[in-house]
Amino acid sequence: MAGEPQPDCLFCKIVSGEIPATIVRETDTTVAFRDINPQAPTHVLVIPRLHYPDAASLGAAEPQVLADVLCEAGNVAADDKIDATGYRVVFNTGAGAGQTVFHAHAHVLGGRGLEWPPG
Ligand code: 5GP
Repeated sequence: MAGEPQPDCLFCKIVSGEIPATIVRETDTTVAFRDINPQAPTHVLVIPRLHYPDAASLGAAEPQVLADVLCEAGNVAADDKIDATGYRVVFNTGAGAGQTVFHAHAHVLGGRGLEWPPG
C-alpha cells in the first residue's frame, strides 16, 4: 500500500532502526540524519517516515508531510548555524538527476560556498 515500509528500502531501515545512522532530528513524520558521504560540512538528509519513491509522489499523496520535510530542513540549518550564511535544499528526482535511493529525501547542504548552477 502507498506509504508502507518497503522491505528492501535502505531509508525505511533507517526509520525502523534496523540500519544505524547519525540522527540529528526526529518528528512524528520525519527523520533527519547525516549523509554517510558528506558533500559539505553540513550534509543532512531529511526523510519522511512514510515510504514514497520521490518528493513528487510524496507531495501528491501527503502534502503536509512534504511540508514537514521542508520545515525540518530549515530546522537542521538553524541547528547547524548555516541559516545565516545560506544553504541549499535539494531533491534529486530520478536516476538522471542523480537519485540513488528511491525513498523521498531532501539533502540539506551548507557550511561552504555553493556554486550555481549545480553540476
Ligand atoms: P540521492 O543520490 O538518492 O539523492 O541521495 C542518497 C544519499 O544517501 C547519498 O548522498 C548517499 O551518500 C546517502 N546514503 C547512501 N547510503 C547511506 C547510508 O547507509 N547511510 C547514510 N547516512 N547515508 C547514505
